[in-house]
Amino acid sequence: MSERNIPMTDLKAVYHRLKDEIDTALLSVAESGAYINGESVKCFAEELAGYLGVPYVIPCANGTDALQIALMALRLKPGDEVLVPAFTYAAAAEAVALLGLVPVPIDVDPGTFNIDASKIENVISRQTKAIIVVHLFGQSCDMEKIVTITKKYKLFLIEDNAQSIGCDYIFSDGSRKKTGTIGDIGTTSFFPTKPLACFGDGGALITSDPELEVRCRMIAAHGQERKYYHKIIGCNSRLDTIQAAVLRVKLRHIHELTASRLEIAKRYDEQLSFVSHIQIPFKAKYSTHVYHQYTVLIENSKRDALQSWLKEKGISSVVYYPLPLHQQEAFRWCMRVATDLSVSEKLVQTALSLPVHSEMTEEEQMYIINTVKEGLAAVF
Ligand SMILES: *Cc1c(COP(=O)(O)O)cnc(C)c1O
Repeated sequence: MSERNIPMTDLKAVYHRLKDEIDTALLSVAESGAYINGESVKCFAEELAGYLGVPYVIPCANGTDALQIALMALRLKPGDEVLVPAFTYAAAAEAVALLGLVPVPIDVDPGTFNIDASKIENVISRQTKAIIVVHLFGQSCDMEKIVTITKKYKLFLIEDNAQSIGCDYIFSDGSRKKTGTIGDIGTTSFFPTKPLACFGDGGALITSDPELEVRCRMIAAHGQERKYYHKIIGCNSRLDTIQAAVLRVKLRHIHELTASRLEIAKRYDEQLSFVSHIQIPFKAKYSTHVYHQYTVLIENSKRDALQSWLKEKGISSVVYYPLPLHQQEAFRWCMRVATDLSVSEKLVQTALSLPVHSEMTEEEQMYIINTVKEGLAAVF
C-alpha cells in the first residue's frame, strides 16, 4: 500500500479556510438559545432566494424530505406516475414510491449523464402527472426541451438540484437562470459533501409560485396554517438554526469554493483529454458546470481494475452509481419500466468519479493524474 491518502473531499480543510467566520456564527447560535427556527434560518432562506433569483426558499431537514414535500405540495394521487432518471441517486424514486406514486424511469444522455429529453414523450401515459429531473454531478439538464414537453402534457416539473447549486442553465437566446428555479419546484440538499453544505443534514425547496410556497411551508411544519391548527397532513422537516448559520457563511463564499473546483476540473481536462481509454466529462453548451463530481468513463470492463489501481496508490475514487434505479431491489416491484434503459445500464459499469474538491493542492492532483495515466497503461 501507498503511504499517500487522497480523499474524495476534505471537509475539515474547508472549515479551516472559513474558520473565523464559521466559529463566530456557531457561537452566536449557541449564545442565542434559539436553536429551532432562529434568526439565521430566515436570513439564510432570504439570502439563498436572492442568490438564486427567486422569491421563495423554504428550508427543510434534508434533500430527500425536500423531494417528498414537493410531491406532497403538488397534490398528486396514489397511482399517479412520476418520471425520474434511471441513472441517479435513489432519493427521487424513493420519495415517489413512499407516497404511493409510481416511479417511471427514463434513460439518460451518454454525454451529460442527465435525463435524455428525447426519450421522455415515449413513456408518458394518462397517469403521468410529474417529472423529477436531476441536475447530476454539477451540470444542468436540457431544460428548454424538458419545459416544452411538460407544458405540452401539463406535467409538473420538479428539479432536484442537490448536486448543482450555483449552476446556470443557458437558454438558446443566451439568457441564464440558476438550476432549480426553472420548474414548478426545485429541491436541494446541504449534506456536508454537496456544493453548498452544512455540518450535518439540511435541505430546501425553491419556488416562484406563491401558492406552492405556502403549501410547502405548511407541509414542512406538520401541515399547520398557524400554530396548533393543522390544515393538511404534513411532516416535521426543519433546518436547524446552527446549520443555517453555517450555510450563511458558506453562501457568502460559494463563488470562491466553486472557482477552486473549476480550476481542478480544468487541469484534469487539460491533462487527461488526449489520453486513450479515458473519456473526460462532456460539457453541454446550454449549461455551466460546478463539478460536484468529476466523472470519467472507462470502457472495456476496465473501470474496476483502474479503481483498484488507484486505491493501491492511496487515491480514493467512487462509482456513482453502481446500479440504475430500475435494478435496485427496493424499486423493482413498484416501478413501471416502459422503455429501453441501456445507456444507464452501461454507465453503471463505466463511470468513475475522481477527487475534485476546493482544497485539493496542485501537487496532489498531479499525483492523481500521473497515477491514472500509469493505471490506464497497466490495465489496458
Ligand atoms: C444527496 C442527494 C439527495 C438527498 O439529499 P439528503 O440531504 O441526503 O437527503 C437527493 N438527490 C440527489 C441528486 C442527491 O445528490
